[in-house]
Amino acid sequence: MSHKRKNLLDELNKLAPSEAEKLINQYAKSKNKSVPKSLVITYTHDIEKHLDTVTVSCPYCQSTNIIKKGKIQHGLQRYQCKSCCKKFTKLTNTILEKSPWPWNVWTKVLCEMLHFSSVDLIMNTLINEHYVVEITRPTVLMMVQKLRELFVYVPKPELHGVIQMDEMFFHESQKGIDNPTDVLKSGKRRKGRRRSEPSKYGTMGNEFGTVLCAVDEVGHAIAKHVCMGHIELDDIYLNIHPYLKMLHLSVQI
Ligand SMILES: [Zn+2]
Repeated sequence: MSHKRKNLLDELNKLAPSEAEKLINQYAKSKNKSVPKSLVITYTHDIEKHLDTVTVSCPYCQSTNIIKKGKIQHGLQRYQCKSCCKKFTKLTNTILEKSPWPWNVWTKVLCEMLHFSSVDLIMNTLINEHYVVEITRPTVLMMVQKLRELFVYVPKPELHGVIQMDEMFFHESQKGIDNPTDVLKSGKRRKGRRRSEPSKYGTMGNEFGTVLCAVDEVGHAIAKHVCMGHIELDDIYLNIHPYLKMLHLSVQI
């Protein structure tokens, strides 16, 4: 191996896998070539590192009585549950399980979302900063939507001190669906609405979902779909009170 090449390899080894991956993406793009498949091994090692601190439990029955059961393709550890006998990895039932995009691409999309970047901006950032060689807008939009769905499971913060609240209205429509369901009572049916009629009460009408947002002094925020149409004081109390770190509740409108 030439001296130059050895130096290059030494430098490459000093990089974090995600940084090395970006460099290879940049090289592949400059040569107009696709990224070698063997690079997926780097991705997987990177994921294993991130998942080091995750306690392993069975994603099917939540049992912690598990054993290691070899490795799957690209070196990801596989486990078997001794209770239900099912096999799984740390990525089973996660968005990364069948995703062709590695950990650092997902985290970059998430990071951009938290900075309120548009889908187009996220797509351009991923390409220009060499996270990927190429990616389409619909793919980025799909990733954004999948991550948004997961936000529901993020534990909500406790609100302290003076809390400010405001509401926002969204038109709730299940156009084309034969049996519309009540969005606040999952599984329960709701009556269909007449079309081509203007809303009688505007955004206070029952066809508008009301989302309440509460922000405290340090910026912790909670947003909840609390009711349809006009919001009552009870809706505020029932939905926000569980997150308040205070003894008394006084409301100023
Ligand atoms: Zn199990």
